[in-house]
Amino acid sequence: MTGHVLKFLGETKLELGAAGPHEGNWRAGRDNDGIFWLALDKADTGTNTISEEVIRELEAHVTAAEADLPKALVIRSAKLSGFAAGADITSFDSMSDEGAADLLKKGHDVLDRIEALNCPTICIVHGAALGAGFELALACDTRIATTGASFGFPEVQLGLHPGLGGTFRLPALIDPTEAMTLMLTGKTAHTRKAKSLGIVDAVVEERHVAAAVQAAVKGEIKPQSQGLKARALGFDQARSLVARQMRSQTEKKAPKAHYPAPHALIDLWEEHGDDRAEMQKGEIASFAELLKSETSKNLRRVFFLRQKLKDAGRGEDGIAHVHVIGAGAMGAEIAAMAAIKGKRVTLGDVETDPLGKALKHATEICKDKHLSRIETRDALDRLMPDPKGYGIASADLIIEAAPEKLDLKEKIYSGLKDRMKPGAILASNTSSLSVDSLATHAPDKPRFAGLHFFNPVSKVDLVEVVRGSATDDATANRLAAFCGAIGKLPARVADYPGFVVNRALTPYLMEAMVLMDEGVSKEVIDSAALRFGMPMGPVTLADQVGLDIGLHVAESLRDSLDTPMAEISDTLRAKVDAGELGKKTGQGFYDWSDGTPHPDEDLSDAPEDLTDRLILPMLNACVEVLREGVAESEDQVDGAMIFATGFAPFRGGPMHYAHARGISDITDRLKALEQAHGPRFAPDEGWSTLG
Ligand code: NAD
Repeated sequence: MTGHVLKFLGETKLELGAAGPHEGNWRAGRDNDGIFWLALDKADTGTNTISEEVIRELEAHVTAAEADLPKALVIRSAKLSGFAAGADITSFDSMSDEGAADLLKKGHDVLDRIEALNCPTICIVHGAALGAGFELALACDTRIATTGASFGFPEVQLGLHPGLGGTFRLPALIDPTEAMTLMLTGKTAHTRKAKSLGIVDAVVEERHVAAAVQAAVKGEIKPQSQGLKARALGFDQARSLVARQMRSQTEKKAPKAHYPAPHALIDLWEEHGDDRAEMQKGEIASFAELLKSETSKNLRRVFFLRQKLKDAGRGEDGIAHVHVIGAGAMGAEIAAMAAIKGKRVTLGDVETDPLGKALKHATEICKDKHLSRIETRDALDRLMPDPKGYGIASADLIIEAAPEKLDLKEKIYSGLKDRMKPGAILASNTSSLSVDSLATHAPDKPRFAGLHFFNPVSKVDLVEVVRGSATDDATANRLAAFCGAIGKLPARVADYPGFVVNRALTPYLMEAMVLMDEGVSKEVIDSAALRFGMPMGPVTLADQVGLDIGLHVAESLRDSLDTPMAEISDTLRAKVDAGELGKKTGQGFYDWSDGTPHPDEDLSDAPEDLTDRLILPMLNACVEVLREGVAESEDQVDGAMIFATGFAPFRGGPMHYAHARGISDITDRLKALEQAHGPRFAPDEGWSTLG
């Protein structure tokens, strides 16, 4: 085939050389210069993943290249969405049943053959090249990135490590400690970092791809050399020393008992880091073993829980303009996230100071999110301070994020009457007030709901879309779609004290306070939760949320629920009275004077009993919200708790953990705790339907 193909997608033209029409999952063709273009264009999806079929078809193309050697082989993606998002995770379950090692060997063989081709092999990457996508790129001689490209190995988040050659190709290409860090943390290297690390050999604009390919074919793009450190790590002793440091650092973030994959990777590298053939064998065997682990199964479950919540956020929101009322901790970040994702945003406040701070903070968020200068400028252009509230008249959605006082919110809603445009939605970010009681003051009840973001909004993915009894379907759907549009995961829940997440989290936090009243140290309490697998202990979490906020949520839950709850802790009240509110004031239960918590003693091992005292009240509340119909399903509860609170992901969510441990075991423990500590531990009646 001859001729040149440019694929037009919107404004962007992807340079596909002679890559011909879609056949299977690839487009393939040779241009007049004899260059073989292979463009991955996975059928029936907008995102490329590397499936068994993709590899099988790639093998056929490699065989063709071997039989009639081209001047060069160019591999790239034909999808605007990026290069490839990694392996096809949906196939992992069947893979582990059907002999993963054999399948992996086939994949390795194809990539080895690309590497061995006796012509230049060039990979062009735009967007993300993750996991197996990154590994395909690593099998080529040269990697050319277009601006915005990124590279990463997210496998650890699935309880795995790279399985298609990444464990030996990346350390052979760049500084091995940097390679290990990328694989152990799952972090992404964005274009500039990827260039400085030596992952990519050149960065060009899309319109210069053809010229860059020509330069690579002529040998004008030189790979960077690895440097001395890489050679030093060829020695066993040096590697052992570095491996020891990696192990202790990894243990702090991902203990081996809970997350075996990164530790298996360190073992592999320490043992075989100087022997590619052994490393390859070891990688395949270890990946196949990890695939069967409970941790990996549960983390894959978490991946699918995320997909489910994402699916709940698909659809048209009909929202171009958002007006946010209140530019405080929550409103500022909500406004920034909406603007970053393309919404026109006006932001109001009764004070001017928070508005200035909000704009400054939005710039920081853009930086954190690796937005380019132009993307940042555009996002900030879309975010307009609006102290007079002019935006109210034209907004499609108004989000109220004013202080948590019923009378204040009522006053704000009265002021919106006759000012909002017909059909516009009003949503409150309240965390503890009843949506139904707020609705009585809303200008248009069917178009009123709760939209409960979590702090910090830019980092916590979950949002509860809270339906009041008068909220109509279209409003709930549009709000869920709005969450999806701004990159959040909506959980549609019913109006109930604490909704789902705070209802379940508060008893856990309150039990930690009761334990402190009993004289147990905060360090011991936190270590009990960490040992279970929580990302931070409840005392640290309470400090981070703000003790005033925690106290307020706990009091309002106690007032509005029939279920017995712990007495409000004296220690907590005393802290709030003293103005020691946690991280935000520099002092809470911990000293946060430099922004991090300082324990008074080393985190020590807590008695086993303590973990159940903290975790089981949370599980009990999860069962309550299911029985009450507040949450839609066990999966939704699990997703909400993981994506809002970081509930030990390797356990697959609170409900999944309950089933894995055994319902009767849990209810027996709750009964024993009830005997010992009082009625707040009485098992919810909903447990009986779960058995
Ligand atoms: P905040 O005190 O940080 O900010 C509130 C802002 O509203 C302030 O800037 C204030 O000047 C402004 N304001 C006061 N009266 C106003 C009015 N009449 N019109 C416009 N602006 C007004 O509060 P926050 O922490 O951002 O909380 C806002 C809402 O979000 C509350 O309902 C709270 O319960 C909820 N929430 C808070 C958190 C959290 O962790 N902070 C988490 C989830 C939900």
